[in-house]
Amino acid sequence: MKRAFNCHCCGHCCLNLIDAYNGCVSDADLERWQQLGRDDLLVWVKTLDLGPNNKLHTAWVDPETGDDVERCPWLIDRLDQKGHICGIDDIKPDHCRAYPEHQRHAESTGCVGYQEKAVIHDSITDNLVRNK
Ligand code: SF4
Ligand code: SF4
Repeated sequence: MKRAFNCHCCGHCCLNLIDAYNGCVSDADLERWQQLGRDDLLVWVKTLDLGPNNKLHTAWVDPETGDDVERCPWLIDRLDQKGHICGIDDIKPDHCRAYPEHQRHAESTGCVGYQEKAVIHDSITDNLVRNK
């Protein structure tokens, strides 16, 4: 059955799907952040030059150590411990904005955004316990 999508800020996608925090950001992402003067974001992106017109922008990379992060630096834990929010939601990377692509994608990757409320509550609780 097809349901409306409603993100419940469980944080599963940001915490557990490695593509979310160790992936590539797009040229459009970089342009957006450059136009906004968001050097604080840009320093966490490492661009690899793979040849003519072929650049790969990897994120997020710790600017001090040069290591890939193990948790997205922009993910904020809610003070009431009922989930997480994105600290750069308005300008987050395109791949974060596009997730989940559809209900089947959500279900196959553990996103609860299409589930009933009661199920969502249990899933959020489980997720928070798992990640403590
Ligand atoms: S897994 Fe789904 S419901 Fe949970 S924060 Fe991500 S998009 Fe929202
Ligand atoms: S940028 Fe925002 S939406 Fe993307 S992984 Fe980080 S906290 Fe999650």
